[in-house]
Amino acid sequence: MARRPYIVGNWKMHGTRAMLSEARAIDRAAQRLLKVEVAIAPPYTLIHPIHREAELIAVGAQDCHEAEGGAFTGDISAAMLADAGAQFVILGHSERREGHGESNDLVRAKAEAALAAGLKIILCCGENAATRESGEAIAFVRGQLAASLPRLPEGFADIAERITIAYEPIWAIGTGNTATPQDIGEMHAAIRALLIEQFGEEQGGDVRILYGGSVKPENAGEILRVADVGGALVGGASLTADSFMGIALAVGEPSDN
Ligand code: PEP
Repeated sequence: MARRPYIVGNWKMHGTRAMLSEARAIDRAAQRLLKVEVAIAPPYTLIHPIHREAELIAVGAQDCHEAEGGAFTGDISAAMLADAGAQFVILGHSERREGHGESNDLVRAKAEAALAAGLKIILCCGENAATRESGEAIAFVRGQLAASLPRLPEGFADIAERITIAYEPIWAIGTGNTATPQDIGEMHAAIRALLIEQFGEEQGGDVRILYGGSVKPENAGEILRVADVGGALVGGASLTADSFMGIALAVGEPSDN
C-alpha cells in the first residue's frame, strides 16, 4: 500500500502557548493538502492544547520514558503522552542519543513501551560526520537501527502504520547542510532492505522512511522525490506555518476539498 508522504515537525525545546497560533495555521493549511499527512511534535506542555484544537494534524511527543510509571523525577511515560492526546512519539533522536547518552538498548526499550501504550513511533537513526567521512555510514546506520528497532509481540498488526523510521545524518541537523540525493537514496535503500529482513516484504516494504536534516521549502522537492523517501522530519523550518507548509506543498498539490 502506498502511504501518503508524512511531514513531521519537531519543535524541540521551542514553543510556549504563543505558538498555538502557528499550530492552528498549520492545521488549517493541512486541510488543503490532503495528499500529505502532517504532524507536529511540540514540547510536552503544548501537546494537550494542540490536540484539543487540531482538526486534522496529528500531535506527538519528542521522547518518553521506558517504564510504565514510578519514581522517575522529571520523566514522562508513554501512557501519559497518550492521555494528553499524543498519537506518536519521536524516539532515538540524535539530540537524545548524544545529549542524554541514550543507547540503542534504551531506545529499543522506549520504542517497545510506546507501542505497548498504543502510540505510533518515529525511530531516528543517523551517522555523525566522522562516520560519513570514513565511508562507514551505511554499516553504522544499519547496526544502529537493527539494535534500536522494537521486538514486536507475536501477531503485532499494522507495523507500517505504527512504525516510521527517520534517517537524520547528525552533520545535517540544524547546520544548513543536507545529504546529496544520491547519499539519501543509498541510505534509504539500505534501511529498506533491513526493514524487509526484519518485518518481511509486505510490512517492511511499506514502512515510511523519512529524511531529516536541514529540510526547507527550497530543497524539499528535490529530497522528497528521491526513491524511498516517504516524507521529512523537520526541525527549524517547522516553527512557522509558512515554512513548514512550504515543505508540505513541495510534495502535495493543494486539493479541491
Ligand atoms: C531534527 O532535529 O529532527 C531536524 C531535522 O532539524 P533541522 O530540520 O533543523 O535540521
